[in-house]
Amino acid sequence: MAELKLMNINKRYPNGFHAVKDLNIYVSDGEFLSLVGPSGCGKSTTLRMIAGLEDISEGELYIGNRLSNDIPAKDRGIAMVFQSYALFPHMTVEANITFGLKIKKVPEKIRKEKLNWVLELLDLKGLENRKPAELSGGQRQRVALGRALVLDPDVLLLDEPLSNLDAKLRVKMRTELKRIHKKLKSTIIYVTHDQAEAMTLSDRIAVMKDGKLMQIGTPSEIYNNPANKFVAGFVGSPAMNFISGELKLIDNKNYFVFEMGKIELPELLKEKIKESIKGKDVVLGIRPEDIEISFEKDNNSLTGVTSIRETLGSDDYVTVEMGNILLTVRVEPEKFIPMDEKCYLKLKGNKMHLFNKDED
Ligand code: ATP
Repeated sequence: MAELKLMNINKRYPNGFHAVKDLNIYVSDGEFLSLVGPSGCGKSTTLRMIAGLEDISEGELYIGNRLSNDIPAKDRGIAMVFQSYALFPHMTVEANITFGLKIKKVPEKIRKEKLNWVLELLDLKGLENRKPAELSGGQRQRVALGRALVLDPDVLLLDEPLSNLDAKLRVKMRTELKRIHKKLKSTIIYVTHDQAEAMTLSDRIAVMKDGKLMQIGTPSEIYNNPANKFVAGFVGSPAMNFISGELKLIDNKNYFVFEMGKIELPELLKEKIKESIKGKDVVLGIRPEDIEISFEKDNNSLTGVTSIRETLGSDDYVTVEMGNILLTVRVEPEKFIPMDEKCYLKLKGNKMHLFNKDED
């Protein structure tokens, strides 16, 4: 079994820096889990502790049912692919891929079989005798992946493996990775700071910040029910809109009141209001696709002025100014939207989020 359990894992570097704090993550056999978060949040450190390249300061790491804190890296049944590929420049593709098998003294016949399997799987046939310098970035990336896959790892750790590739190749390799995972059903932990990559590849995503786990869930849970303002702002592009204000009870109804108006809050948010944030400064979050824009006078809507339109190909986004507040609103690409015009905005009630202003 290649399940993985991280229990209260902490990392303190020798200089005293507390890079990973009380991390609790369970990864089931065959799961594709992504670790995401801003630069320096502890993703690589976590991966390196799992791989055995970095000591665990506190906590317990189980690989399968084995407590693995003190098991040497080479005996953990884990393979890791680095952002930099780390291929041997003087060796051919074939030698690079079979290197680990040779070290393990795997007989030549089996080495050949595994090599052929990987060349086929990763579409590298015909490149066996080239050196890394004679390959494209994507090909090098696949060789690095092949070198890990021939070892039949129980767990595959990938540290930003696509970050050196151009945008087009990145998307292609993303699909490739998904295909490989589907075929091999290996347990994969994938580190990236690209949330779009994590959303498309993962069964679940773990969002980290400052060494702490902010939320773990399926891409849809993370996107639709972010646990806090940080996760809400980190996942989704363009980012969720945030408006600062406060909660008020008017005629027995809950309102979010801010400098440019007030919004009646849906029943859906009642519990959340009661639970934690009543009486405090709050932030209302709404994604660009959950705001409707119109130009017909509507007293129940917020008013603003259209200012900029941006095209991202499949979608267009309009920036609407409400005083100092800027909101991004998704519009259909073919829809005509006049600029510098007064407009009316309706926020979809069931898509509003409320966050504590001071919490992450
Ligand atoms: P990135 O996306 O930039 O690769 P990351 O989330 O992978 O970032 P880590 O490389 O895990 O972040 O680093 C986490 C924190 O630990 C950072 O603040 C980093 O400066 C610090 N750190 C990393 N290695 C060491 C070390 N050997 N000694 C002290 N601090 C370290």
